[in-house]
Amino acid sequence: MSLIAHLDADCFYVSAERVRHPGLKGKPVGVIGNQGACVIAKSYEMRKTGVKTGEAIWEALKKCPDGIYLKRDFRWYEALSKRMLGMVRERHPMTEYYSIDEFFFQIEKPERARDLQLLILRDAGLPVTVGVARSRTLAKLFSDTAKPFGVRVVTDVATERELLAKLSVQEISGIADRSGKKLAERGINTCLDFAAADRRLIRSLLTKTGEDLWWELNGHKVQPIRPDRPQHQFISRGGSIGGASGDENKIRGWLARNTERLVEELDYHEVRPGRLTLALSVKEGESVGEDVRLESHTRRFDLLMAASARMLDRVWRPGLIVSHMHLIAGDLRRDGFVQRSLFDPPDEPESSLAVAKKEINDKIGRFAVRSAATLHIPEMYRDRSHEFDVCDIRGKICF
Ligand SMILES: [Mg+2]
Repeated sequence: MSLIAHLDADCFYVSAERVRHPGLKGKPVGVIGNQGACVIAKSYEMRKTGVKTGEAIWEALKKCPDGIYLKRDFRWYEALSKRMLGMVRERHPMTEYYSIDEFFFQIEKPERARDLQLLILRDAGLPVTVGVARSRTLAKLFSDTAKPFGVRVVTDVATERELLAKLSVQEISGIADRSGKKLAERGINTCLDFAAADRRLIRSLLTKTGEDLWWELNGHKVQPIRPDRPQHQFISRGGSIGGASGDENKIRGWLARNTERLVEELDYHEVRPGRLTLALSVKEGESVGEDVRLESHTRRFDLLMAASARMLDRVWRPGLIVSHMHLIAGDLRRDGFVQRSLFDPPDEPESSLAVAKKEINDKIGRFAVRSAATLHIPEMYRDRSHEFDVCDIRGKICF
């Protein structure tokens, strides 16, 4: 029988810091984010003192004055996440990236889960917990109960039910406060209550999404493992430019930065846009924009950068004050599904700058090498764990 495994790194950001600073092992460690204002991850030693994820740093300091507080470094966490994902994929080709430190995969022999766990600890330095069960929702619930550094394989219904009886229904990802309240009104409080409830009732309360979870809790695989990323209609990158500004160099710097981020995301999803849109928020609620059809579907940095710059040229005028910028890629085609014409530009040549940039950044972390136009926004690069990277973390920020 093919089973589903859920692998989740234990206090990932802290563990990642311990990989490069082994002296932190066994000590109460907190990783802080949000411009140093709150704890976004904590070690088990810090957790014992009562510090909670999301808590303000000044509260945490009261509870754990001897703690070691480190500023986050998402570039480093991404690099380690990639390493870990590679190790899982190599052994289990049907692996889905779920978040920066969580993957689902199909597993034929559950006893191999322990081998994988030990291997990741040895070769990546990261402690992880693995849950193995008949469906992905069960696997995730069970891995949560086995933390830290556990492996829990549950394949028989009796043990499933025993564990589900101990878990609140809100432990199921996808069931939050509002749904939880609706269920509680019907006396459905534990995961077991949920699994044992009438399927039609669940559907009437929580629509098809709820019904899918019901099947999953009853051991049916409804949500498949997606080794390919789902197809997007649009992919966009942008946001605040760090305070409204009329400085053309700064705005062009942000344009380069957002184009780099966009290319990175297009690479990740292996798609090429045929259309590009630039939207600038200029005043409260007001915006200006431009749209171009690309000559061919491409995610070459030089071509997209040129298209972005042309769009900005068309809307730019002195005195324009910009607060937000979005770059949106549309008409996306998957690699291999692009009809090539004789006049299309070739793919990125092997020797190109963009390829070298990507290779280096893949190895040591995002944006280690970047476009020189972004030098006009030094505040973004003041330090390597700056907040501007936050929104680029796929899946989740805290855990
Ligand atoms: Mg985790």
